[in-house]
Amino acid sequence: MTIRTRFAPSPTGYLHLGGVRTALFNWLYARRHNGEYVLRIEDTDQQRSSSEFTEDILSNLSWLGMEADTGPVFQSSRLKRYSEIVQQLLDLDLAYYCYCSRERLDAIRKEQIQNKQKPRYDGFCRSRKGKVAAGSNPVVRFKNPLDGSVRFEDLVHGPIEIMNSELDDLVLARSDGSPTYNLCVVVDDSDHSITHVIRGDDHLSNTPRQINLFMSLGMPLPKYAHIPLIHGKDGKRLSKRHGAMSARQYRKDGFLAKALMNYLVRLGWSSGDQELFSIEEMIELFSLTSVQQSPAVFDPDKLLWVNHQHLKQISGSEILDELALHFRSKGIRPDGKPELDELFDIQKDRCKTLVEICDTSTYFYADISHYEENSAKKNFNHDGMKILQNLKFKFEQVDDWSAQQIKSAINSVSSEMGLKFGQVAPTLRLAVTGKAISPSIDITLELLGVEKTMHRIDQAIEYIADTI
Ligand code: GLU
Repeated sequence: MTIRTRFAPSPTGYLHLGGVRTALFNWLYARRHNGEYVLRIEDTDQQRSSSEFTEDILSNLSWLGMEADTGPVFQSSRLKRYSEIVQQLLDLDLAYYCYCSRERLDAIRKEQIQNKQKPRYDGFCRSRKGKVAAGSNPVVRFKNPLDGSVRFEDLVHGPIEIMNSELDDLVLARSDGSPTYNLCVVVDDSDHSITHVIRGDDHLSNTPRQINLFMSLGMPLPKYAHIPLIHGKDGKRLSKRHGAMSARQYRKDGFLAKALMNYLVRLGWSSGDQELFSIEEMIELFSLTSVQQSPAVFDPDKLLWVNHQHLKQISGSEILDELALHFRSKGIRPDGKPELDELFDIQKDRCKTLVEICDTSTYFYADISHYEENSAKKNFNHDGMKILQNLKFKFEQVDDWSAQQIKSAINSVSSEMGLKFGQVAPTLRLAVTGKAISPSIDITLELLGVEKTMHRIDQAIEYIADTI
């Protein structure tokens, strides 16, 4: 039997981290078992769905590299199929029209709450006899079994049993004929031969209802795995107040797709003490039996750490396009020297995100707009000017603009001036980068190139002359 999983987001918001984690578990499980992974867009709620969110979901899943074997399948294109099934259930007397008004439903609800009962439909129309007023638009309700219980073995939570007396007759089609979530899910999971439904714990209460529907329709049941929700450190369900929550924001903030996946796979799943996983390792090791039951806690600092570990491991050529995108989004064209892969290699140990690499490297590609204030106060004075003039003179004699020769030129200026390397470098660094911190100065100058270096030394000398 081919394992088939699915990720079924509703396009009512940007793809969030919880959704990415659900997609990831489904994708990994399918890959682990040489199965198939289906992407289904649950867009029957026309009012809340938008194409902007659909595009966001699709583009971020593709950025993350979780390509679907089937799909995207849009529920909005399958409305005819859902109507057919509703009709089938009506014909089999497994569903019925319900004409209860909103007022009546509200009144029973109120009464049940007052009597400390769980609010549920009282089944009034299930046994209704006779005609109803013309012009009324009924909903269609499922005849949930009245007796017995629903039992299933959740692959994360173990055996679960819910009494049918706890469940009411759920609406399958609204008064405008549109199908509801529970109906569409069952029809689609069945039509796509989904073998494993892996989704958040928040759907656990839907499962017995869906199982009853599956059984009424004589459709084979999938297996269920309800994965723990993600909480913030405050113990509350993850939401915007815990920081950036969408995949797009993390991408914008310079996180790597594989780091985000690595971090998220550990939210609720583990393999011994291992923290860092390549995609291949995740596929090899992922199993539902190692998914925990209790909520997972989101820790932004750890995500940053994981990102840095991945950043350090990859080569510049792997990340060229993404890094270039980040520069361009800041209005900087990373053309000319240094090549982006060279730049990446010298910055990746020092920076935790691609955005940090861009922010600390703009001087390579754009003119310096200002000198860092504290460093300028300390270094841009008479002595600093002398240092820069001497360096300029020495640099003019360097025939091979390599870090090694640059370093020996700085060394000889230092010793001629009776200074230490560490007393000369900060002035030079400020002059050519505008900053107090940069990768080692000889490598920085090599990457910057001789022309830009000389030009910036001239500019700094002029600046000092104007300000002292
Ligand atoms: N569309 C549902 C959601 O976005 C998921 C439904 C399911 O996985 O069964 O929460």
